[in-house]
Order: sequence, then C-alpha cells, then structure tokens
Amino acid sequence: MPSDQLLSRLTEIVGAKGVIGDREAMQPYMDSWRDNWRGQARAVVRPASTAETAAVVKLCVETRTPIVPQGGRTGVTGASQPHDDGSEIVVSLERMKTIRAIDVENDTMTVDAGCILADVRQAAKDVGRLFPLSFGSVGSCLVGGNISTNAGGINVVRYGNTRALVSGLEVVLPDGDIWDGLRGLRKDNAGYDLKQIFIGAEGTLGIITGAVLRLFPRPVAELTAFFAVPSPAAAVAWLTRIKGAFAEQLTSFELIQRRCVEVTVQHIPGTSNPLSGDSPWYVLLEVSSQLTGSHLQDVLEAAFEQGLAAEEVSDGILASSSQQAEALWHMRESIPEAHKAEGRSFKHDISVPISKVPEFLARAEAGLEGAFPGCRMFTFGHLGDGNLHFNPLAPPGAGDPGDLQRVNRIVHDLVTALGGSISAEHGVGRLRSEELAHYKSPIEMKLMRTLKQTFDPLNLFNPGKIFPAG
Ligand SMILES: Cc1cc2nc3c(=O)[nH]c(=O)nc-3n(C[C@H](O)[C@H](O)[C@H](O)COP(=O)(O)OP(=O)(O)OC[C@H]3O[C@@H](n4cnc5c(N)ncnc54)[C@H](O)[C@@H]3O)c2cc1C
Repeated sequence: MPSDQLLSRLTEIVGAKGVIGDREAMQPYMDSWRDNWRGQARAVVRPASTAETAAVVKLCVETRTPIVPQGGRTGVTGASQPHDDGSEIVVSLERMKTIRAIDVENDTMTVDAGCILADVRQAAKDVGRLFPLSFGSVGSCLVGGNISTNAGGINVVRYGNTRALVSGLEVVLPDGDIWDGLRGLRKDNAGYDLKQIFIGAEGTLGIITGAVLRLFPRPVAELTAFFAVPSPAAAVAWLTRIKGAFAEQLTSFELIQRRCVEVTVQHIPGTSNPLSGDSPWYVLLEVSSQLTGSHLQDVLEAAFEQGLAAEEVSDGILASSSQQAEALWHMRESIPEAHKAEGRSFKHDISVPISKVPEFLARAEAGLEGAFPGCRMFTFGHLGDGNLHFNPLAPPGAGDPGDLQRVNRIVHDLVTALGGSISAEHGVGRLRSEELAHYKSPIEMKLMRTLKQTFDPLNLFNPGKIFPAG
C-alpha cells in the first residue's frame, strides 16, 4: 500500500496526533540512546489504547507492513530502531501511561506498558510499597521495554530480573488479537505459563500493552557502602562473606574498575571518588531490611573487620545519609554516560558463574591486550549476578566492525568455555543476532525459530532482531 494511503488509514485508527509521517519529526524515534543505531520508517504510530494498538496491527497484517515495537529507546542493542530501508512502522507505546490499578493487599499493580519505570516506582512508593526494578535509565525507559528485554539492573541479587516481577500480561498478538493475561496470581498452574514467552522476546512476538507487576514491602533500613578491593578474586571472596552475613538482605553488589570511576569523575559533574588511595577495583553494595530492629550496621562493621583481615577489602566508607548514598549511586549509574563520552569501545554484556569471574577477567584482558595493544579495559557490572559490562575502550585506529568481530570471538569463546552467556541482561537485538546464531546450540535455535514461526508466521514483528536478517 502506498505510504500516503497507509498514513491515512493509520490516522483513521489513532487520530492525527497518534501518527507522525514527517521525516524530521520522526527523527527522535529513529535514534538510540547511544546514537549508534538509527534507521528509517514509513511512520511512527502512537496508539492511546490497547484497542487502537490491535487495530494498527490488523492493518499491518492486511498490508504486510513490518512493525518495530518501541518503548523509551534506551535499549543498547539496536532492537527498537527500524532498519535503513524505511519499510517498517514504529509503534511507540509512549502515550499509554496509565496506572490502571493498585491492589495493596495483593501486592500488585496493573499498568499500561507505556508507563515510565520511575513513575511506576513512585506510584508504588505512594502506597507504601516497593517496585524494585531500577537502573540508570529509570527516568526514560518504559515498562513494556523493560519486560521485552527482561531487564536486570542493580537489585536483581535480591528481587530477580523483570521476569520475576511480572505476574500477568496483556499482549496484542501478531494477528491483531488481544490476549488478556492480566492475572495477579501467586499460583497458576493452569497450562503453559504463556506470559514467559513474551518476557524478553524483544518485540518479536507481539506488542505488550499492559502488565500486572509485583510489589514488595518497603525496606525500613538501608545501608549503602563503597569498598576498595584489591582484585576481582578478592571481590568475589568479599561477596561470599557478605552473602553469608546478610543472606537475602543483600540488595545490590556492584563491581567497578578504577578507570570507570576516574572517567566518570572526569566527565560527569557532581560525581567523585569517596575513597583516596589507588585501589584497582571497587565494590558498591547495598543491604536493606524490611524488619524493624535489624542491626545492619553492626553486621556490616563486623564483616568489614573480617574482610580487612582476609585482605578482601582494603578500605571502605559507609554512606552516613541518604544524600551520600544517592551520590554513590549517581556515580555508579553515570558510568555508561561517561563511557559514551570516551569514544569507541567494544561492548559486551556477559555473565559467567560468579566463581569464574576472576578467571574470565584475567583471560579476557590478556587476550585483548595481545590482539589490540593499547586497549584500555573498562569493566563494571552486577557482580552479585555474575554479570559484567566488559567494555574495553578501542585503541586509536581500532573499533571498526572487523575489529569488533575479532574481539567478540576472544570474549564470547571464553564466556562459552566458562559456561556463561553472551547476553546477560541487555538482550540480543541487532548487535548480537549473529553472535547468538553462532553460539546457541542448533536445537535451541530451532526451538526459538519454531516459536517465532508459530506466533508470527508473516515475520512482521521486529524482523532482523534476535534472529539475523535474511
Ligand atoms: C544509562 C543506561 C543504563 C542502563 N542500565 C541497564 C541495567 O542496569 N540493566 C538492564 O537490563 N538494562 C539497562 N539498560 C538498558 C535499557 O535501559 C533496558 O534494556 C530497558 O529495559 C529498555 O527499555 P525501553 O523502554 O527503553 O525499551 P526500548 O529500547 O524502546 O526497546 C527495547 C526492546 O523492547 C521492545 N519493546 C519495547 N516496548 C515494547 C512493547 N510494549 N511490546 C513489545 N516489545 C517492546 C523493542 O522492540 C526492543 O526490542 C541501560 C540503559 C541505559 C541508557
């Protein structure tokens, strides 16, 4: 169907303010947060309801128009940007941002998929509950994007990935039918758990329009602390000690290489390193308790004494106010922004068993320094989950796609040998689709393709994402 006809049919469904057809006005929807993915689309469509979304999808089926579902565009794998050929439409959920209901006794909240994550967290706080999902893009990413990437973040060690925080879903399926699975149940073994198929599917199996999210009691006590650690092995030993001391009270455990702190302090105003000295690594951790009368500080101080004696930590500071805690988290969450300012890099989002993290880092760094002399390591991430953002900065003259391919082989071969994953929390998108096909077993790829074919036989939903194009 010619584009002007398509635009007018779309406008009939969602109204004039729901359709953007002008190239310049579409531009913000074509770019990714890091500006390294962009494409062209026939139109950007912004439905205001589930019914409108379903009608848009039915029109796309009729006209065989491929769809790129889009949230806040903070994803880092090129999954929410259209391709360059301009054949797709972007369906943005940004106008669907109603908190539909909160059931305090059931600890659930039903939301539109276009709600901003920070707004969901605030709405939970307003009723004395916690929605624990959080990370640096909390003010821009949308719940539908979080669910579609099965986002992780800083609290996974205590509360799990997004998958663990979703109780029900509403999805517009690739044929335009609406699946109402908005159940707030703790137990439901009535057949397959269909919502799990859409969580982490990166928009390849339908458009999520609503979700039932799980809420938790708010912590009454919280401690944030920053430690100097001499090595990744020491950090793992420190993690083991902290888990022994705090069990499920451990909320976050982040590993940060010294260079990440230095670069962040250099580029991001208002950030600082609270510890003097020249420690090569740091740990930012948070413990919290929902019980009054817990002695978090006593326990942490006792662990610190033991950690010092065992040379797991060499220094540490406990945030003495919520402002100090916020400053520490601000520094940690500014690392991706600071990394962006440093120029070309080889980005990886890997996980290995926690016990294998030191071996991974030693071997990956040696491999890269051999292949790319002058490569500067830049590593941070969620050590409590065995998840590292291993993002070395490219030396001058390096960083083209061929170099990335060589780096990927070094890093991902090692990850695979250590029993890890080439995508821990960011997903696959376009960035890692070839890598996924290379490393996933043929049987897993076959099962995934069978699912895709069953749900989306016309391959209209986010084609070329997760599965390599063509
Ligand atoms: C500074 C910064 C820090 C970050 N830290 C973390 C982190 O710690 N942990 C982490 O996991 N991620 C992190 N991210 C990555 C990113 O924020 C997450 O992947 C986030 O969940 C993406 O949400 P979004 O709304 O921006 O989705 P988008 O980027 O718009 O889309 C992501 C994917 O979801 C699909 N999609 C979006 N909405 C829908 C929908 N309604 N239905 C179906 N498919 C949909 C898109 O097609 C695409 O495949 C970070 C990003 C930045 C910029």
